[in-house]
Amino acid sequence: MSSSTVIIGMRVENSTKPGTTVLEDGTIQVVEGSTIRLRIFGQGIHRPTCQMIYFADLPDASDANANADPCIKKTSDMLVNPYCHDVRNTTALLDVAVQILRKEIEFKNYVMCLEDHSGKSRYWFSDHNLMIQVIEGDEFKLPLWLKILLAVILLALSGMFSGLNLGLMSLDPMELRIVKNCGTPMERKYATRIEPVRRHGNYLLCSLLLGNVLVNASFTILFDSMVSASILAIVASTFGIVLFGEIIPQALCCRHGLEVGAKTIVITKFVMLLTFPLSYPMSKILDYVLGQEMGLRYNREKLMEMLRLTEPYMDLLKQELNIIQGALELRTKAVQHVMTPLHDCFLLNSNAILDFNTMTEIMESGYTRIPIYDKERTNIVDMLYVKDLAFVDPDDCTPLKTITKFYNHPVHFVYQNTKLDAVLEEFKKGKSHLAIVVKKNEVENEDEVLGIVTLEDVIEEIIKSEILDESDLYTDNRARRRDASPRKWDFSAFRGTELKISPQLLLAAHRFLSTEVLQFCPSLISEKYLLRLLKHPGVICELKFDEQNKESPGHNLYEKNKPADYFILILQVLCWHFLLSPHSQGSTNCMA
Ligand code: ATP
Ligand code: MG
Repeated sequence: MSSSTVIIGMRVENSTKPGTTVLEDGTIQVVEGSTIRLRIFGQGIHRPTCQMIYFADLPDASDANANADPCIKKTSDMLVNPYCHDVRNTTALLDVAVQILRKEIEFKNYVMCLEDHSGKSRYWFSDHNLMIQVIEGDEFKLPLWLKILLAVILLALSGMFSGLNLGLMSLDPMELRIVKNCGTPMERKYATRIEPVRRHGNYLLCSLLLGNVLVNASFTILFDSMVSASILAIVASTFGIVLFGEIIPQALCCRHGLEVGAKTIVITKFVMLLTFPLSYPMSKILDYVLGQEMGLRYNREKLMEMLRLTEPYMDLLKQELNIIQGALELRTKAVQHVMTPLHDCFLLNSNAILDFNTMTEIMESGYTRIPIYDKERTNIVDMLYVKDLAFVDPDDCTPLKTITKFYNHPVHFVYQNTKLDAVLEEFKKGKSHLAIVVKKNEVENEDEVLGIVTLEDVIEEIIKSEILDESDLYTDNRARRRDASPRKWDFSAFRGTELKISPQLLLAAHRFLSTEVLQFCPSLISEKYLLRLLKHPGVICELKFDEQNKESPGHNLYEKNKPADYFILILQVLCWHFLLSPHSQGSTNCMA
């Protein structure tokens, strides 16, 4: 069939694009990208003939393969519709889709070929009548200035998208809420604008990334049409996108994300609307797979570390920062780290007598709460508050037990590993503000006293500085650093000028002297004068024995080889050896 088919010429019936002409040599000139309808002429043209017609590149005369059969290679630049119309034996109508030329080519020649029905032999009609020249169409060609302008706009958009991506996505919803509530007025304004958009994190992310990829791809294609060598287009567009589309905007938005994000929020919303069909479903899938965005969350340790690291850049006072840190550490510190160790504690023996000396010691210690021990310092049994002494007259020498029994204050014990927040809670609930720190002794199944802790010790930990009150002697209860200006009072001013002895004792002494001692018999000194003499200051005195200073000159009653004009009559011996502190004292009443 095909062997009898001959095509001898063709003409363009119509074209989808204007500009179709016939050159002088008979070559038909058409515009790229058009679809043309050809009328072919010849003999033996049948309906299947169109299926065998195809086009091939026609090499230049200068080409080395100029004489080779061009029909060997089918071109895809000219797509022939295999269905002819109006087929008559000598003519038929044929549709051909002309593809766009490659950008560096201005025109290209093609030749019509006819395939043998076996698909083997081809016919090359070396006749210009069967040649088509495709030329560039100019309706899509933009002027260079417009291309440059477009490229700049695309690059700016690319920069904006990647900048916003980093700027907006790095502001997590929690941070935005914080800024919205307590930023500067400007920051609050920006955060209020951004927050509703940022709430849809994944939708925003998808929109911005889609927009970014879209403009980056468009920029590359546009750039490619502007330069002749593709490799140059790749290198230049990569460099351009990286520098102006990524690095500079990201560096900028990293620092001013809030401001840039707020000022371009309208564009962002527009892009979100534009990319809605694609980005919204994608974001929903992401939401479903990844779950809702959590935002930044700090635990105690992270918060403390953040405070520590950002300290130089914060406008917090050192003191405020200390308090925050101290409060955060409360739950991690145990009482044993802040307590006053037992050996430094001021305690009283439960057998003590509240006489002038004991009271002086209590007053000199400066403490308000004094634990009472029984036999051993580690056996704390009671508490004495200085307030309890309001009705106690030192001259009455009241036993301490009388007072402690009367007030019967509960003793507050805590374990050494109790955390400070728990102790603070107990102090807040009205328990004694002094707690005895004990350690569980597994072996003896008994608690061992380690020291004491007071509300002040806990507060000092919170504010991370020492509290000094009007009666404190130490600035640091653990290192026992002394206050620079210790206040020491001389309480002897309160001691009665005369030593008081009971009237019975005075009478007994008077009787003894007037009847038993010759020098005081009524014939030599009247009883009245003797009584006056006895009441004379310095006649009856109290001598104290100082254990710490056994060689004290006050201990000497007589001196060897030194005549004395006095004698000693012992009225009363007080043998209370009450241990008040490491300094224990004994006391003796005697008469000189
Ligand atoms: P307040 O201030 O309520 O009158 P205070 O001055 O006696 O009482 P705090 O201020 O609670 O006692 O504590 C001050 C410091 O003295 C703390 O470090 C505490 O551990 C220590 N401290 C309190 N009482 C004694 C005590 N009896 N012996 C030794 N140290 C004590
Ligand atoms: Mg105090």
